[in-house]
Amino acid sequence: MTERTFFLIKPDGVERGLTGTILARIEAKGLTISAMDLRQVPRETAAEHYAEHAERPFYGDLLEFITSGPVVAGVLEGPRAIAAWRQLAGGTDPVEKAAPGSIRGDFGLETQFNLVHGSDSEESAAREIALWFPGLA
Ligand code: ADP
Ligand code: MG
Repeated sequence: MTERTFFLIKPDGVERGLTGTILARIEAKGLTISAMDLRQVPRETAAEHYAEHAERPFYGDLLEFITSGPVVAGVLEGPRAIAAWRQLAGGTDPVEKAAPGSIRGDFGLETQFNLVHGSDSEESAAREIALWFPGLA
């Protein structure tokens, strides 16, 4: 029973030179990277990706951040890929929620600059893969 999920290495992760470290953790876990590229995110894509947060006070800053530099966007496959990638990433707040050993727990200090994104459900994964990789959906 394989599953697909969507991931981002956010601009802070790319800028800090953590791309290789993060991809190594993904591969070490046993997840398969089935699509991936480095790209500059159009504002409209960022807005649609984070549409569920449109009313939140941090939404404007979040869009500025996600469009501030290149990201690595990709698709992961494997058994329970959605939960497995959220586990590797760690909780949203890298200090209060993400455990040491997770990507956010090991490398993050601030909630906004938490290095990675992962789909949070099957519905989100399908929506995000269709948005970022329309050819794969
Ligand atoms: P996750 O990325 O863990 O699924 P959310 O979907 O709740 O978290 O939020 C999306 C992103 O918005 C977070 O990863 C983080 O970059 C940013 N964010 C969330 N909450 C806050 C906050 N309180 N202040 C600033 N940025 C936030
Ligand atoms: Mg989320």
